[in-house]
Amino acid sequence: DDISHFYEIERLRREFIANVSHELKTPLTGIRGFIEPLLDGTVDDEETRYKYLTLIRDESLHLNGLIDELLNYSRFEAGKVEVNLVPLDIGNVIENIGFKMQLLADSKGINLELRVPEGIPFVYGAEDKIEEVLCNLLSNAIRYTPKKGVIIVSVKDEGEMLRISVSDSGLGIDEEDLPYIWERFYKADKSRTPSDGGTGLGLAIVKSIVNAHGGTVSVESKVGEGSTFSFTLRKVQDSI
Ligand code: ADP
Repeated sequence: DDISHFYEIERLRREFIANVSHELKTPLTGIRGFIEPLLDGTVDDEETRYKYLTLIRDESLHLNGLIDELLNYSRFEAGKVEVNLVPLDIGNVIENIGFKMQLLADSKGINLELRVPEGIPFVYGAEDKIEEVLCNLLSNAIRYTPKKGVIIVSVKDEGEMLRISVSDSGLGIDEEDLPYIWERFYKADKSRTPSDGGTGLGLAIVKSIVNAHGGTVSVESKVGEGSTFSFTLRKVQDSI
């Protein structure tokens, strides 16, 4: 029911904060560990000094990434998804993201196929936000599809709207989880640990971005067969 569901989301939120705080501590501990010997003079050769400084730099980059993630999250939490809608060549956006995700797909032996016909209509959208949507859907598809799987991105004209779909031949989602996967922090596979990278925020962000565009999101899935996530965007009616 609604109340226990509220407590569940609250619990997931606390777990998220705890995980992130824990993840912030690791690089910081590393940085402090390398600074001490540099300061107290234990390190006297140039090579070790260089090595320690490089590690400190890498750890701070890592920290930066984590903090960006947190900032992204709090902006999203504050409900500030603002979109500046302009006519967008969605075919081009799909090609670009497809190109960027190709390496990741290749590394798992997954066949990523873009079915984007010539001359599909422009849509109203904010390019960086739509890229984020596609990026989240594609990284999920890659994450939840075993080696040698197939992922297909396709588009369909539905009159006033254009539907963009990402289908995968992956694990699929349990029917009882399906209604909740769009919610913040919800992870269908409870066995996963934070080091798997998922925070349960990806789809919640997808949904709020698409809704801010006046579109809708949907999903169809069968355990063991795969999932199809899709979203709609308004077409620019008089585009070439
Ligand atoms: P996460 O960071 O955990 O991936 P998301 O909000 O992106 O968070 O997804 C929520 C949950 O939905 C995931 O934990 C996963 O269980 C399920 N899910 C999302 N995309 C897929 C997919 N393509 N195939 C199977 N399960 C998926």
